[in-house]
Amino acid sequence: MAEILDGKQLAKDIRKDLKEQVENLKKKGIYPKLSVIMVGDNIASQVYVKNKSKACNETGIDFEEYLFHESTSEEELLKTIQALNENDSIHGILLQSPVPNHININKAFRTIAPEKDVDGFNPVNVGNLTIGEDCFISCTPHGVIKLLEKYHIETEGKEAIVLGRSNIVGKPMIQCMLNKNSTVTVCHSKTQNIDDIVKKADIVIAAIGKPNFIKGNMIKEGAVVIDVGVNRLENGKIVGDVDFEDVFPKASYITPVPGGVGPMTVAMLLSNVVKAAKNKLKQ
Ligand code: NAP
Repeated sequence: MAEILDGKQLAKDIRKDLKEQVENLKKKGIYPKLSVIMVGDNIASQVYVKNKSKACNETGIDFEEYLFHESTSEEELLKTIQALNENDSIHGILLQSPVPNHININKAFRTIAPEKDVDGFNPVNVGNLTIGEDCFISCTPHGVIKLLEKYHIETEGKEAIVLGRSNIVGKPMIQCMLNKNSTVTVCHSKTQNIDDIVKKADIVIAAIGKPNFIKGNMIKEGAVVIDVGVNRLENGKIVGDVDFEDVFPKASYITPVPGGVGPMTVAMLLSNVVKAAKNKLKQ
């Protein structure tokens, strides 16, 4: 039977520590501040932004929101980002995805100054992660790594499978596991024989957005199973990409949904804002 990787508790501990760091920064005249931009009225995004706002408030980080109508032009969005880049009182800028199709999201991410890119999506940060330099790491993969470290889970030399190759989760996750010296295999929607590949893995990280996709008979006995997925079923229940009940008896460690990776993502965002504010102090 698996041990639960308690992301909720670890995130709580990290947030407590960050709160103290924020208090210390304020004593030195630095007031950490995050600006979040949202374009359109995606319901899920509204919930995510509300959670981020609440987390910032609880940690003592100033938070401001820019809510743009769905018809907002790319030019207007980029101008706002540039103004935030130049505003010294703002330490972190986050563009909530998705954005409407007429906006090139990569162009928008590129416009966010790398030193304020607390989501780690600017290619400068993506590149620095790849070459192992200090950078802002995408919050969800970073949160997964913190969880693995907290529970002293060996990654070096282990076979890790990352399911999903999105720019925001899968790809940085692959890089993070490589940086932890795992042997990494990636699966995506075109991968053949996924079951055979997953079966070989010591560490399975699922980030595909397919409810209950990973079953107990797909994993190796004693595998560590990390569930990044957040899927809402028709009955309103939130489940991950892993069939928790089925996998639990066979895994050595497993993250629950909710209460696993999700809270860690928010904690890592706060941590990146504090890091950005500290970098400002160093200048
Ligand atoms: P995404 O952009 O939709 O990417 C999904 C990835 O999964 C793609 O690479 C896709 O392959 C792959 N995929 C889809 N179906 C597959 C299948 N049957 N077998 C293998 N691979 C398959 O999603 P995302 O933004 O990365 O998010 C993934 C999940 O994580 C979602 O449930 C999302 O809600 C959740 N999420 C959670 C957090 C958190 O904090 N817990 C944060 C972000 C996202 P192709 O590239 O070939 O299309």
